[in-house]
Amino acid sequence: MGGRGANSGDLGGGNASSLNSEKAGDIWNYRHNENNEQFVDNINQTVREMAESYDGLMNTINDIYMAKVKDNPTVMAFWDIDHGELGINTRYGNIEKMASAYDDCVKKGYHPGRGNKTAEQAVIAHELGHSLTSVAMQKMRSNNFDDVSKKIMKEAQNILNKGLKKKKYPGTRKIATKISEYATSSNAECIAEATADVYCNGSKAKAESKAVVQALKGFLK
Ligand SMILES: [Zn+2]
Repeated sequence: MGGRGANSGDLGGGNASSLNSEKAGDIWNYRHNENNEQFVDNINQTVREMAESYDGLMNTINDIYMAKVKDNPTVMAFWDIDHGELGINTRYGNIEKMASAYDDCVKKGYHPGRGNKTAEQAVIAHELGHSLTSVAMQKMRSNNFDDVSKKIMKEAQNILNKGLKKKKYPGTRKIATKISEYATSSNAECIAEATADVYCNGSKAKAESKAVVQALKGFLK
């Protein structure tokens, strides 16, 4: 952890948007192989369900595709903020490979559990958490993704501390540590991890994840 964030008890900025990747194929094209049908349908189900529960989700998504990711073999999927594109790493392009990679991370506390959802659904819900932060950016007429992420997390902190005499959450870092290890890497990743937790686990999601999603939703209006 370390760094400046550790002193203030707050998370820092930054995200992995400078990924070296290229589009490998359209997701519908990918579905034309019958081995991939269920995988793609699971992804589309998540997009559809989340579009129903979050205002304006589809406003920022221009494309969802299979991608070749170079240099960084552990990335399962990514959100390209600049182009509004959601890429899924071909390396994890089927139900078994995605589940094996994701569940390894859950065991280590690196990602939240996926409840009764599939791994590709958990991964897509995470990426859509980033897409929703882009929606919040539009609503706030901001062009600063990190700044908007920070505002959402600060609001989540307010929600969690509300009514408490002794502030249980001195900074946003403590919120992230309750959600997952990856959530501690930045404000943006904490929002994405909380979104995945709430999508996968519903009422059983962490209280901290629910507060982050409540804060996020507040910025989508
Ligand atoms: Zn992320």
